[in-house]
Amino acid sequence: MKEEDKLMEKIQMTTPLVEMDGDEMTRILWQMIKDELILPFVDLKSEYYDLGLKHRNDTDDQVTIDSANATLKYGVAVKCATITPNAARMDEYNLKKMYKSPNGTIRGILNGTVFRTPIVVKGIKPVVSNWKEPITIARHAYGDVYQNVESKLKEGEKAELLITKADGSEEKLLIHDFSKGSGIIQGIHNVDDSIENFARSCFNYALDQKKDLWFGAKDTISKQYDHDFKDIFAKIYEEEYKSKFEAAGIEYFYSLIDDIVARIMKSKGGMIWACKNYDGDVMSDMISSAFGSLAMMTSVLVSPSGVFEYEAAHGTVQRHYYKHLKGEETSTNSVATIFAWTGALRKRGELDNNERLVKFAGKLEFATIKTIESGKMTKDLSLITELEDIVTLNSRDFIVAIRKELENLI
Ligand code: NAP
Ligand code: MG
Repeated sequence: MKEEDKLMEKIQMTTPLVEMDGDEMTRILWQMIKDELILPFVDLKSEYYDLGLKHRNDTDDQVTIDSANATLKYGVAVKCATITPNAARMDEYNLKKMYKSPNGTIRGILNGTVFRTPIVVKGIKPVVSNWKEPITIARHAYGDVYQNVESKLKEGEKAELLITKADGSEEKLLIHDFSKGSGIIQGIHNVDDSIENFARSCFNYALDQKKDLWFGAKDTISKQYDHDFKDIFAKIYEEEYKSKFEAAGIEYFYSLIDDIVARIMKSKGGMIWACKNYDGDVMSDMISSAFGSLAMMTSVLVSPSGVFEYEAAHGTVQRHYYKHLKGEETSTNSVATIFAWTGALRKRGELDNNERLVKFAGKLEFATIKTIESGKMTKDLSLITELEDIVTLNSRDFIVAIRKELENLI
């Protein structure tokens, strides 16, 4: 076939995807995925932002802000894992300053909620045998103990909550009188605006995915704080989403957090589970390990205005990258990064009524899962699979094996 004919056959795009490149091993996988699985099939239109740490440092992190603003403009982004600098990275990359986490910066600009969903394949069974479908965790990413004030108090001290009203008057609430012994206190807060954004992101995503939404808090014990979460969700649901949920045939279900946990364990899965900040932190690690592997977990940031940013849930896999730099073979799992691409391409296709692009995303996901189910996988999965006669592939050969499956489908 002539080059022009091949190009003609490629899937065309109308609106660019915001592409955020990243660091270390995932940056290597990023290029392989593009070269083998995307560019041969899609005439990729992307607005490229290099969020690799070197370029973030060169631009004083402006590139991260620019990439988030481009996401607001175009509506869909795909992001590679990035290094969050710490003291060791300051020396390694000779940084001008210890930049904030790019994900934190992007989340701040998009004002979004992160949804994490395991990718389920045959041969890698969830630890909980009745879970048949993936469980998506939506974690509220503002406030509570993550923006707390705390103190240790000595015997004889007294702690009070002082509220200064808008008119200057004061209200004091006794927290505890430590006259009989030392102890600890903690002050936490949240803001209605953030809880409302969280609720809308969850309702929007449930509609987008056509899945039930579950939410749990401890409103019986925390009659003001957790009750506020419950009330805000209920009000927004009634006023803005109830009829849409009914039309989509999905349900919003609220219960106490302990009841939700019990029901999740006995469910067959398939729901979106909205969690307060701490619950989401803890439960997402339980869900990801119970479903098999961090390398099989996708992540999407959804803004209340309906902007989507897709990525893998894991980091830059530093240990594998150092092996790669030494010329040693790596067997790094690219599935979550591939699904970040397919998530973004599918969403772009849906927004642009580009059916070929939507179908392509489905085919690439199918080819990826089929590759694993046919016994070809990376080392992290070959260690936990129940399949027999498996072949453990290196990072590149796994992607090449997916390409072979994909070519059969195109
Ligand atoms: P990590 O990259 O998630 O990797 C931790 C370990 O998990 C790896 O050493 C590996 O275990 C296993 N693993 C994770 N992803 C894998 C994959 N795709 N295939 C196979 N194994 C995988 O976490 P980290 O090493 O603690 O962090 C590295 C860097 O990532 C840090 O600079 C951190 O700031 C950054 N990070 C970024 C994001 C993000 O951008 N969203 C998220 C988290 C961390 P074995 O070594 O046992 O093989
Ligand atoms: Mg955690």
